[in-house]
Amino acid sequence: MIGNWPNTIALVDADYFYANCELARHPEWRGKPVMVLGRLNSCILAKSPEAKKAGIGTAMAAWDARKVCPHGIFVEGDFRYYTLMSRRLMEILRRWSPVVDVYSVDEAFMDLNGLRGLYRKPFDQIAREIQHEVHESLGITVSFGISVNKTLAKMAVEINKPNGILAVPGKGIDAFLATLPASEIPGIGFNRAALLEKFGIRTALQFARWPQIQIERLLGKSGLLLWREMRGEISFPLQSESAPPKSIGRTSSFDHPISSLDQVHGLAVYHLERAFESLRRNHLLTGELVLHLRDKEFHIYGIPHRFEQPTDDFGELVSAMRELASKIPKSHIWRSAGAMLVRLTPATGRQLDLFEDPQKMVRSEQLTEARLKLNERFGRTMVRSGTTLLITNAKPKGNEHRLPIVL
Ligand SMILES: [Mg+2]
Repeated sequence: MIGNWPNTIALVDADYFYANCELARHPEWRGKPVMVLGRLNSCILAKSPEAKKAGIGTAMAAWDARKVCPHGIFVEGDFRYYTLMSRRLMEILRRWSPVVDVYSVDEAFMDLNGLRGLYRKPFDQIAREIQHEVHESLGITVSFGISVNKTLAKMAVEINKPNGILAVPGKGIDAFLATLPASEIPGIGFNRAALLEKFGIRTALQFARWPQIQIERLLGKSGLLLWREMRGEISFPLQSESAPPKSIGRTSSFDHPISSLDQVHGLAVYHLERAFESLRRNHLLTGELVLHLRDKEFHIYGIPHRFEQPTDDFGELVSAMRELASKIPKSHIWRSAGAMLVRLTPATGRQLDLFEDPQKMVRSEQLTEARLKLNERFGRTMVRSGTTLLITNAKPKGNEHRLPIVL
């Protein structure tokens, strides 16, 4: 018999995510059947509860849906916006727990161990407050399944959607499993459930009580992993983050080899911006910037700049790149240019330089944030360093028609 919370995992799952995101920016659609269409408007990817009530099924063909629900609101999917909402959701979760294991665009496992003591609240109250914060900041609802491992948390979250919370403590597992058919265990599915039924296994609890040897014989290793999870053990540990990258490099070729150093510098800064975005997204600092070049004969050059302190300050990176550009060997013909960030370390606990001007630091930080926000909102080429305007024959891809703001 296990205790109630030998380990506490939550699965946070945004309710009808794409449709919920649309409702967040179109509050006037609330209470109406709203459907989000996939690429080429072919099928329904997400639907509001009202559309579900009207009889719209998962992945229903768009033209069937229009027949079933002629007065519904059909929206073309805006995946850039959903990605942004997803990122914001994960940011909120990370503020509550140091370990967030992103499972999909709208689902993440959270490690709740130790949080009861930290926030002095029971787990379901913590979940309630996170739900509230997500709703306040993003305008969408999320559901929580809380249990002792990933699979049970996943099964729990399915029960009370939308805006639900279900906690299944160790001592409640058996009662919970008794209510569910074995096909509800993620990874069992209908085929395996049909096979189990031949052996008299109908409920998830019967599955959990079956002898190990039988499970192994019938369902192999993967079945055994699920069986252990149904018994409250851990087969699938939480993965906090994918291992951080060792370096971040971005480079590309010119349409034809060139000799203009301004253009080489411009392309290098353009790639520095991409690398910088990735640095920030991964919450890393860099200790060294390398200007990466390849000449007409395909010789590779790396010109390094070491920072005194690891940094994620865009201004500092750009001025380092300017310095590196002045060291580019003269009278060469260049094929490609790029930027590489190496000696990466996690951005937590950045050491403050006592001699650094705090005003300057704050301003630089604000500029960097503003740049990231604008780029997220309007696409990457919205805010570019003035230097990248010099690129004439190496066209960065993106929303080139937009007028860039030059910093
Ligand atoms: Mg979801």
